[in-house]
Amino acid sequence: MLKSNNPELTSWIETNKESDFPIQNLPYGIAATGDLIFAATRIGDTVIDLSVLADFGFFDRLFIPDLSVFYQKTLNDIAALPKNSRVAIRERLSEIFCSENNELKENEEVRKLALHQSDAVTMLMPVKVGDYTDFYSSKEHATNVGIMFRDPEKALLPNWKHLPVGYHGRASSIVVSGTSIHRPKGQTRPDDSKPPVFGPSSQLDFELEMAFITSAKTEPGDSIPANKAEDAIFGLVLFNDLSARDIQKWEYVPLGPFLSKSFGSVISPWIVTLEALAPFRTQGPEQDPEVLPYLKTTGARNFDIDLQVELKTAAGDSNLVCQSNFKYLYWNMAQQLAHQTVAGCNINPGDMYASGTISGPTPEAFGSMLELSWRGTKPLKMKDGSERKFILDYDTIIMRGQAKNQQLRIGFGDCVTTILPAK
Ligand code: CA
Repeated sequence: MLKSNNPELTSWIETNKESDFPIQNLPYGIAATGDLIFAATRIGDTVIDLSVLADFGFFDRLFIPDLSVFYQKTLNDIAALPKNSRVAIRERLSEIFCSENNELKENEEVRKLALHQSDAVTMLMPVKVGDYTDFYSSKEHATNVGIMFRDPEKALLPNWKHLPVGYHGRASSIVVSGTSIHRPKGQTRPDDSKPPVFGPSSQLDFELEMAFITSAKTEPGDSIPANKAEDAIFGLVLFNDLSARDIQKWEYVPLGPFLSKSFGSVISPWIVTLEALAPFRTQGPEQDPEVLPYLKTTGARNFDIDLQVELKTAAGDSNLVCQSNFKYLYWNMAQQLAHQTVAGCNINPGDMYASGTISGPTPEAFGSMLELSWRGTKPLKMKDGSERKFILDYDTIIMRGQAKNQQLRIGFGDCVTTILPAK
């Protein structure tokens, strides 16, 4: 076990038990105060400027050849460090901030420069996303969609249990929590006996997903074996893959979703490392039929992370509409990355790989309005008396995720977006 994962560790920075950010988390983000933009970590409600720690020599004995990684406006260069360096930074942060250590605790000058209250900073996009893939790895979600749009008898297509289905998505419109998104416009065909029409989507939906961010750079032709794939992962975020179901239904044949999923995807601001999530590893669902050798993984490759979606109406009422868990995914991240690269596609640090909608086995664990309202046939009752089949203008979608056991809670912070009317 890494020293930093000791559940007994406490920090001299105050944290309450319900915080997503105990000293065992130490996620990475990019924060801003005024004109200052900096790489950060967070403990409790305190955001810590890593560039100030680098300025004052706190990372000197880590043997990181180029400390400029701490002075960039994205985390791509920190992501690109070899795994042992990334682990060493996290161990060092744990050391600096644990209750017994006085190096920074008793250095008021540096403390004043490096520590900020979380409500005094704005979180920015943590990485420059070069490429983005969206998988489709929840068996429950793929089955629900198959039942609704095709044939209940053959809900899963023949390839689904043999490979992690995915498509290359749009990186330019991935935004950080707190960014509002305008309702998309596009072509739909509400009546199959009439020509298509153009206008704002009337079936705007969220998709509850998580995404991993890669650390490795590979060359064209290279592939990453499944049993090495986790070393190429920097960390995870919550991912709201906004989708326009009416646009999707008309456009997706034969090449898959295009404009219906290109107008905005929202991520939580803190990248939580696989090291921080290590205590929450768990076995995934049994894979039957047996997968091909290049997709085989051993050990516990799924993670037990509780997930919630809250819908806040314009009236301000909060409605918990979904409770799911990351562990339900049929295909794990190592298999996804092995599959992504097996044809020889090169990857880069900062690339993003979303899981696909994470639905669980019971109706309250369905990860999209499409499934929760069963294609609009079972509207959800909101506390303010209104009903929802899909998302309305000025609704706010809040996703949360936290891995928990009796001693520890590692969370992601909120992933929030408000839907504005079409431009
Ligand atoms: Ca998706």
